Amino acid sequence: MKTWSMSEMISPMVKQIPPSGIRKFFSLAEGNKDIISLGVGEPDFVTPEHVRAACVRALELGKTTYTPNAGLLELREEIASYLYNSFQVKYEPSNEIIVTVGGSEAIDLALRALITKGDEIIVPVPSYVAYSPIAQLNGGKVIEVETFAKDDFKLTAEALKAGLTPRSKVLIINYPSNPTGAMMTYEDWLPIAKVVEDNNLIVISDEIYAELTYDSKHVSFATLPGMKDRTLLISGFSKAFAMTGWRIGYACGNQELIAAMLKIHQYTVMCAPIIGQIAAIESLRNGLGEKDRMMESYNQRRRMFVKGLREIGLPCHEPRGAFYAFPSIAHTGLDSDSFAQKLLFEAGVATVPGHVFGQGGEGFIRCSYASSVSRLTEALERIDRCLRAL
Ligand code: PMP
Repeated sequence: MKTWSMSEMISPMVKQIPPSGIRKFFSLAEGNKDIISLGVGEPDFVTPEHVRAACVRALELGKTTYTPNAGLLELREEIASYLYNSFQVKYEPSNEIIVTVGGSEAIDLALRALITKGDEIIVPVPSYVAYSPIAQLNGGKVIEVETFAKDDFKLTAEALKAGLTPRSKVLIINYPSNPTGAMMTYEDWLPIAKVVEDNNLIVISDEIYAELTYDSKHVSFATLPGMKDRTLLISGFSKAFAMTGWRIGYACGNQELIAAMLKIHQYTVMCAPIIGQIAAIESLRNGLGEKDRMMESYNQRRRMFVKGLREIGLPCHEPRGAFYAFPSIAHTGLDSDSFAQKLLFEAGVATVPGHVFGQGGEGFIRCSYASSVSRLTEALERIDRCLRAL
């Protein structure tokens, strides 16, 4: 006779976290060709041909082994010069950079390396869905600080201060932002840096959309006075280089923190896949032109899609980076989950309800515009019909 249930065996830490709300909507749309998916944050470009060819060559040469735990030194060197040339941040390839399995692993390692039970992690919301669950899995307490459409979803020093307590330890920032497309200027960051300094916070800066900016250049938080040593910069190849499936990301920062992350990484994944690392080297050496062309294409789609949303009556603040529009649906009288379900089941358009991105996301839906212009046009028509039928 069975005297136990698997459910009882599963850690309460895992039970407390919800499954990803993005994946839920994605799964509903999967396999149905009639559904236009604006749900998943993934480039619609295939990785450029020369990058794929470099990998085929590497495979033919038998490059199928582990790499150093921190990643191929050649790749860390390329990352260091790329970050310096693009964003004027300087990191030492030998001990300030770790190559990870996507930016996702970097977020996980950082939170595992930093959090002790009861530490508070400040997360400006609406935010990317992974931060809070991973912080909670490590015993951290997440403090959400709200950002608002009226401020273009920028983080303000006042909001940050309101989230502080003596247990505050880590601030997670993500600009350009998923899901809002918001960006912060150097001047916007200065008062935040002061609060960080005054309250001895560590900053995890997820800059995975740093290249996808349309109106002004991305400011890396580590370039703010006094912030470099307090900041862990996280980025990767998934978005700007159209390489989601290769699973290559990285983290750069203080060498003690990188060493602590490396220790966990050694025991859990050993190293990021060698083929992905070779692809990443090729992207940085010879793929910057393609990256810029892809950005130009996202920018065109951003303009047409945001204009289209406004024309059909969905107010939308201007997304200045990444590839998401975050229109308000508040005036429909429906909550974001009901609205997104209506769009999915009645109009055949998959979006993500804003509430999955935390407090302040309710009343909005996230639409990824990394889709073809014809699909976006069709999606707008369908959303329009759905709105009229309300
Ligand atoms: N950060 C943000 C803000 C993201 O949107 C994503 C992917 N959706 C990631 C990190 C993780 O990306 P990856 O693991 O593919 O590098």
